[in-house]
Amino acid sequence: MALVVYNTLTNKKEKFVSIEEDKVKLYLCGPTVYDLLHIGNFRGPITFNLMRNWMEFIGYDVNFVYNYTDIDDKIINKAIDEGVESSVISERYIQEFEKDFNRLGLRAHTHNPRVSEYMDSIINIVKELIAKGKAYEVDGEVFFEIKTFDDYGKLSKNKLEDLQAGQRVEIDEKKRHPADFVLWKPSKPGEPRWNSPWGEGRPGWHIECSAMIKSLLGDTIDIHGGGIDLIFPHHECEIAQGEGCSDKTYCNYWIHNNFINMGDEKMSKSLGNIISGRAFMDEYHPEILKYVFLSAHYRSVLSVSNEKILQAVSALNRIYSAILLAKETVEQVADKSNADAGFVKKLEQFDNKIKKSLNDDFNTADFISYVFEAVRTFNALGFANKAKRNVVHKGNSEAFLAWIEKYGKMSALFYENPKTILSELDDMLIRLRDIDKEKVETLVQKRNQARTDKNWDEADSIRQELEALGIELYDGSARGWRVRVSES
Ligand SMILES: [Zn+2]
Repeated sequence: MALVVYNTLTNKKEKFVSIEEDKVKLYLCGPTVYDLLHIGNFRGPITFNLMRNWMEFIGYDVNFVYNYTDIDDKIINKAIDEGVESSVISERYIQEFEKDFNRLGLRAHTHNPRVSEYMDSIINIVKELIAKGKAYEVDGEVFFEIKTFDDYGKLSKNKLEDLQAGQRVEIDEKKRHPADFVLWKPSKPGEPRWNSPWGEGRPGWHIECSAMIKSLLGDTIDIHGGGIDLIFPHHECEIAQGEGCSDKTYCNYWIHNNFINMGDEKMSKSLGNIISGRAFMDEYHPEILKYVFLSAHYRSVLSVSNEKILQAVSALNRIYSAILLAKETVEQVADKSNADAGFVKKLEQFDNKIKKSLNDDFNTADFISYVFEAVRTFNALGFANKAKRNVVHKGNSEAFLAWIEKYGKMSALFYENPKTILSELDDMLIRLRDIDKEKVETLVQKRNQARTDKNWDEADSIRQELEALGIELYDGSARGWRVRVSES
C-alpha cells in the first residue's frame, strides 16, 4: 500500500515516488516574523508535522526545512515604528514563534534557515539568472523576465495573457512585462542592506525560498508545502526562478493546506476576528488546537466554531479518560498481564485502517475517527467493577496505552498527563457551558451530607438535580464530579 498525495501541480492524487529511495526532501514556507502568528498559520506546522512523522513511520528519512522570513516590509515598518534595527524585531518574533511551537509539542525541523543568512546564495542565483538572459537589471533593481519561462502558470493555472491587464500584479514602468517580478531591489534609507553587483539592496520575496532550497536540499525537491494563498504568485515565481536557473524540475509534489474560518467568516483584520495561536492556547489548550485541525482534512476549509471546540473538548475528555483508566488498571493489578488476543487483533485492524487513511493523501479526519473508535472498543472491555479487574484488563490496558502512544507521537496528541488535562478540560466545559460552579459544589456537599446521614432519598434526588444541570458524579476527578460530555 503506497502513499498517495494530492499534487496541486496536476490537480490530482498521485502515487508518491521519492527522488532518492527512502528519502524525502520537504520544504514548507515558514512565517514572516513581525508579530504573533494567528491560528490559521499553525495549520501548516501542525499538519506537516504529522505528514513528516507518517512518512518516517512508513520508512522514509525526511529532511524537513521550514524557513523564517526575517527580511520583509512588515518587519522593517515595525522596526521603524519602534526605532530599532529590523533584526531586533525578527529575532523577537522568532523567539515568540518558537515558544508557541514548543508549547504545541511539535517536532523540531531539520533546518530553520533565515533569509538574512542566505544572502550569498540569493545573489548567486540572481547573477546566474541574469547570465542566462532570464533576468534584467534596471537602476539597481533586478527583475525576472516571465516571457523567458514557458511554463509560467503551470502551478496556479494562471495564463500570462490574463496577467497583462495588471490585475494581481504590480504596475511598474521599469518592467518589461507587468508580471515580471523583483529578485533584487535597492534598499530605502533606514532599511537593511547588503552589497551586491547591482548596488546596496535587499532581495525580493520569492527568491529567498529558492535560495534556501537550493542550498539545503538541492535543485529538485520532493515536496513543497504551504497555504493555498501562496500558490500565486509566490510558488509560481519560485518555480520560474528555480527551473529558470537549474533547467531541472523544481519540485515534484506541491501540497497546499486550506484556510481557517472563524465560524462562517474568513479571518480578516477588517472583521476583527483574528485570533493568535497564543491567545487560542491560553483560552483553551494546545491540545484543542491540534485536535480541531487534525479532525479535518488539510485540503478542506476548516471552520473554527464554539461547536467544534466543544466537540473537541468532549472527544479529548473521552480519550484521556480511557488513558487514565488504562494507567490506573495497570497500576492496580499486580499480577503479570495477559492481553486478550481478540482485543489486540482489533487494535491491529485499526492500524490497518489508519494506514489506509494516512496513505490516502494524509486523511487525518479518518485517522482521528479511528482513534476514537479504538477508545470506544477499549472502554467496552468492562472495567466498571474495580474490584474485579484482572490480568486481562491489565494486558489490554498495556496494549491500548502502547497503541495510543504510537499515534500520539505521530500527531503530537495524547501525551498530556491525563489527570491534569481532564481537570483542565472540565474547567473549560464549565466555562463554555456557563455552569454555576458554586451551585454545583453546594449540591455535591449537600448530597455527601445526605449520604453520611444515610438519607438515601435526598441523596438520590440531589443526584438527579445535578444530572439535570449536566453534571455527573465521578470518583476519578479530584472534586468528585465532572461536566457530562456528550458521546460523539
Ligand atoms: Zn516560500
